[in-house]
Formats: sequence, structure tokens, C-alpha cells
Amino acid sequence: MELFELYREISVKNEKKILLIVLDGIGDLPLKEDKTPLEAAKTPNLDILAREASLGLHDPVARGITPGSGPGHLALFGYDPLKYDVGRGVLSALGLGMDLMPEDVAARGNFATIDEQGNVLDRRAGRIPTELNKKLIGKLGTNIKEIDGVKIFLKTEAEHRFARVLRGEGLGGAVSDTDPQVTGKSPLVPTALNKGSEKTAEIVKNFIEKAGQILADEHPANFILLRGFDRLPLIPPVSEIFKLKAGAIASYPMYRGVAKLVGMEILGIEGEGEMLDEKVELLKTKFPEYDYIFFHIKKTDSYGEDGNFDAKVHHIEEFDNVLPEILSISPDVLVITGDHSTPVPLKNHSWHPVPVLLKSEFTRPDETTRFTEKEALKGSLGRFKGTELMPQLMAHALKFKKFGA
Ligand code: ZN
Repeated sequence: MELFELYREISVKNEKKILLIVLDGIGDLPLKEDKTPLEAAKTPNLDILAREASLGLHDPVARGITPGSGPGHLALFGYDPLKYDVGRGVLSALGLGMDLMPEDVAARGNFATIDEQGNVLDRRAGRIPTELNKKLIGKLGTNIKEIDGVKIFLKTEAEHRFARVLRGEGLGGAVSDTDPQVTGKSPLVPTALNKGSEKTAEIVKNFIEKAGQILADEHPANFILLRGFDRLPLIPPVSEIFKLKAGAIASYPMYRGVAKLVGMEILGIEGEGEMLDEKVELLKTKFPEYDYIFFHIKKTDSYGEDGNFDAKVHHIEEFDNVLPEILSISPDVLVITGDHSTPVPLKNHSWHPVPVLLKSEFTRPDETTRFTEKEALKGSLGRFKGTELMPQLMAHALKFKKFGA
């Protein structure tokens, strides 16, 4: 039997409550005074917790693999990211609250600027304001509702970004990106990557031409680029595999999308900012109604990608500040970890294992005194694969029955 099938068989419902806090991209490398941001940050509340909890490290996908946030989160939710390979377009559309049917094809879009020769001048159209994005999406939506019987839905994400969903018969999700990824070149022609996606590629081509005509007089957003085409994968929900009523508190669309994909309810809060205080308030209100809540913090990753050591340190300290408020809800099982590392020196996601802190009535305390990469290495949880986190949470919540006689 596959492990995942075993989870389905041995999981039970009970009153115990699990809280998963994801500090996106938390893992890092030593930089200033040989310290990582977690080591440099003053975190009195996390320090107390680290002494009471078990620590360890997880490899989100596998050793040496640098994951995107999608696969990183799927792993934390207990789903094998290699088995459930989800396109970013699907995550964006779901995160924006667009309804996706099993046959729909989603993609991410950018407003862009092209010159008179049709070459891309700016792939992000100068990061136009979200308000202008909404106006242009309205204009496109009014003028292009359907192509060859396939319905088209568009929704603004933020700045230059939007999501696009195609709904109709005979569509496939295997279409190549039109974003050339560089300036000075013309947008790429959408191409079917398999036979079942030929109709989709034709419609996408047609859609882009029409959109180009409608936007021709706009500036700087006079064109669109599409990427990340995909269909909704069939994923059994957490309610079925883990018998959990699960909720997600995340402000950024992609994380809401990945949570929704595994059947979590998306709880309030939406927008570009971190909104930490609002999220904590929401958590306090909603926690009693759920068995499991996923609580996402984004900026630790953003500052890592910006290469901003001090800002990452500061954000960790801000999180430490609200930690007592969070702990006031007394989760039976508490985890603090990340979906991958985003080291400041790399300004990107990385393959480095991610610190994990796990606390429940049944954790074995270890010698760890702080929630840092180095301390995590000494922790009693050892080093494990990202997908092995969820079964440990289930066990600590006494939500797994014994396997075999
Ligand atoms: Zn991430």
C-alpha cells in the first residue's frame, strides 16, 4: 500500500487542533557576523518555544531540489509534489477565487509593452497600478467573452498580473508560454505540446491577437503575455485523506490557491500586503471552528529574494512580537517552518533544508535553545522529507490509528 493510502485508512477525526505556521522562505545562510537572519533576529518568544519543542530540518521536495512555493506547500500539506504537479496558472486562478471546473484551462497573464515592430519593451508594462489593470481587464472582458464556443474569464491579480481561464469542450492544458522572458524579442506563438491541446493553442492565439487590437491605443499596457497553462489536477482533499476540516489564512493569491487545491477553506484576508495583525485576529476568531489552520507569512521570502538581510531579520522579529497572541489560542499541535529556504546571498529559493519546530503535549524536548538553522540540526526530529511533516502532525494530534494488529 502507498503511504498516502495508509493515511486515508488510519486517520480519524477528534477534537485536537493543529496550527501550521509557514514563514515563507525562512531558511538562510550566514551573512552578517556569520549569522543567518534567524540567528541575528532577537526572538525572545521563539526562543522559549524552541526550548519546549522538538526541532529538526526538512527537505521540501528532496535533497538538492530547489522548490517553488507551490510544490513546497503541497509537501507541507502532506501531498507528494512530484505526483501532483500543479501549474502556476491554476494556483493563481484558484487563489483569486475563480471557480475552476475539471476541464478548464488556466494561465497567468501579464500586461506588457511592445514597440511598433511588435518586440517586447517591458514584460511588466512598468508594473501598472492595480486600478488600471482592473480597467483594462474590464475592457478585455467586455469585448472578448467567447472564441469558437470557448468561454473566457479574466481576473486582475495585482499590478501587471492577471489570471485567465478558458472553459469549453475539447481543451487541453499543454500549451507553451508566450512570454519570451527577455525584452527586445517578439512574444512567442502559443504552441500545443500535445495533440489534445491543439484547439486550446488556436484559441489562445486568437485571444492574444484580439487582446492586442483592443489594447493597441493603451500605454504602457498595450499587449498581453500568457504563461503557466494547466488544468486542475485531481487531488483528494484533506477532508478525505486526513479527515480534517482545514482553513487557510494567507493574503497572497498563490498560497490561497494551493490551499484551496487540497480542499482547505480560504478565510477572509486578501491583498498584496502582509497584514500580520489582521491575520492574527482572524486566526483567533476562526481557530475554534477548524481542526487545522495553515497560517502563511510571505515577507520573509520577499526580503530574501530582494537580498535584504536587515528587512528579513526585522520581519522575523515582527513575527516574534505577535507570537504570544498566536499562542493564546493554545493549539494542541503547533508547527513553525518554511516551504523552502530563500537565502539572502542567493536572492532566490534554494535547496537548503528548512528548520522545523514542532510542539505538542507529546513532543520529546531536545537540547535546542533557539529556532535557527544550526539549532535545528541538533534537534530530535532529525532531517526528513517535507511530505513527512503532515503524518507527524497527525500523530501528535492523535489523529492516526495504529497500523496493523
Ligand atoms: Zn515560498
